[in-house]
Amino acid sequence: MQAGEDLDVAAPVSPRLRGAVTRIQDILLGWYPGFRRSRLTARVGKDAAFSAIHTAACFSGGVDSLYTQLDPNLKVDRLVLVHGFENPVSRSDLLETTLQAVEPQARMLKRRVMVVKTNLRSLADRSFSRWGPRFPGNFFGACWLGGFLAAIAHCLRAEYGRFVIPASLSPDALNPYGSHPHLDGLWSSDAVQVIHHGAEAGRIEKIRSITGSAPQAAEWLQVCESNPPDRINCGDCDKCLRTRLALRLAGVKEPNHAFPVPPKWARWPLVADRARWNREYIELLRWCAYEKEPQAASALETILSPPPWWRDLRRHSRNLVKMAARLYAPGLAGWMLRERHREW
Ligand SMILES: [Zn+2]
Repeated sequence: MQAGEDLDVAAPVSPRLRGAVTRIQDILLGWYPGFRRSRLTARVGKDAAFSAIHTAACFSGGVDSLYTQLDPNLKVDRLVLVHGFENPVSRSDLLETTLQAVEPQARMLKRRVMVVKTNLRSLADRSFSRWGPRFPGNFFGACWLGGFLAAIAHCLRAEYGRFVIPASLSPDALNPYGSHPHLDGLWSSDAVQVIHHGAEAGRIEKIRSITGSAPQAAEWLQVCESNPPDRINCGDCDKCLRTRLALRLAGVKEPNHAFPVPPKWARWPLVADRARWNREYIELLRWCAYEKEPQAASALETILSPPPWWRDLRRHSRNLVKMAARLYAPGLAGWMLRERHREW
């Protein structure tokens, strides 16, 4: 849809999934008007009805996946750790670091971990593969995350009839996003049911639930996207700071293994991503009492205040340079070629 191309699938496609394609495209077109509806040519196959009784759930050791694991109604049999999803599949060192946090959690939950390695993102997402059409923002997160995880669900369908994707967004911060309560379930087939779980709870509520029912598992919370070489979490990136504040607002002590060093709240405005997490900052600030967390509250106010004039000026200058380059670069290149030709 982003490239504006049609899709021919040689293998038979599940009737249920084939029927959901129009709805999936409707949702994405509503969110991203630059996309084009793609024509899908595929033979509808006979897919076995749900026969596998086991349930697998994506697990990264973070707040969302731990919350999902602790829901007694889901009856999860296996934790699925996907490698090649947040980091390139070639980085096996990062997989080892993730397992250092995930394995103790799995032991406490009395469940086994299955590691799935995939190069799917490396093949098809421009941020990993350096090819394909440009997308303003994070294409993988914004459009593809749920479909990507559902592809893994379909590979495991012989054994797992239900595949659970923990919700990434809280109800107050529900933006267009690749893994979404309206989208994930549509990737189900007749053999595997894809379930989006946990969309009803905000981050603070999830943390309260985790620390209430599995405080030892919370000790190994892994949320960081910075990949520090010697720790589970760096402690001071945007995601670490959002989680640390939510832990404090939930009234629990920060876990020692996950965050051994005190936070640097003053750094937060420098690493915050307002375009992506604006609603979550607003939610955190709403809960954050100045008397209890003055530094965090002050950092949040800075993040949410309008940018200073000089930051705007810098952005406009950058856009002007880009526009001038687009307008004049082809003419300049042609002139240089002509001049070189004349010298010869
Ligand atoms: Zn971090």
